[in-house]
Amino acid sequence: MKNKQALFKLSYGLFILTARDGDRDNGCITNTCMQVAEGPVRIACAINKNNLTHDMVLETGVFNVSILSEEAQFDTFKHWGFQTGHEVDKMVEVEYSRADNGVVYFTDQVDAYLCAKVVQSIDLGSHTLFIAEVTDGDVVSDVAPATYAYYFAHIKPKPAKPKVKGWICKICGYIYEGDPLPEDFICPLCKHPASDFEPLEG
Ligand code: FE
Repeated sequence: MKNKQALFKLSYGLFILTARDGDRDNGCITNTCMQVAEGPVRIACAINKNNLTHDMVLETGVFNVSILSEEAQFDTFKHWGFQTGHEVDKMVEVEYSRADNGVVYFTDQVDAYLCAKVVQSIDLGSHTLFIAEVTDGDVVSDVAPATYAYYFAHIKPKPAKPKVKGWICKICGYIYEGDPLPEDFICPLCKHPASDFEPLEG
């Protein structure tokens, strides 16, 4: 590929995707969710296989999508995106609502939510693509929805002036002090690979 940065020009929204398996609720952040058909209404969402939410959706076939607005805080991304339900219970001290399908959704920092039932799962390697029927949904705010570009420009904290040579994670702003960045480096905060880092500009 001539320039991998081309992929960063794709536009996306940002979503908290939630699921429930038994009495365990969990959720994760995804940027890959879109409506792909209207008769019947179908959405497609890709979830990273490392996420507990992935296994829960695969198991139960039911999930909700809370569409994040421009009011979404970086802490919200940290909470739902940069830690895993395999290690922590993300539901502790969190305010939520529960839809008729039994799955959690959110109304704070959110524009709307959709309830979905999986009709097809496609193994894509790192991710599974879930094609789902929309069973319910509602609008909860008229604030503009957050795009991934908006997240990069306005939500992700700006790095302080670097004192050392290093690399910064484009996804979450984590700074690796040192040069070069090891090729197999994985961001300790958001778990993205070395290819999502860029050199710090001094
Ligand atoms: Fe990161």
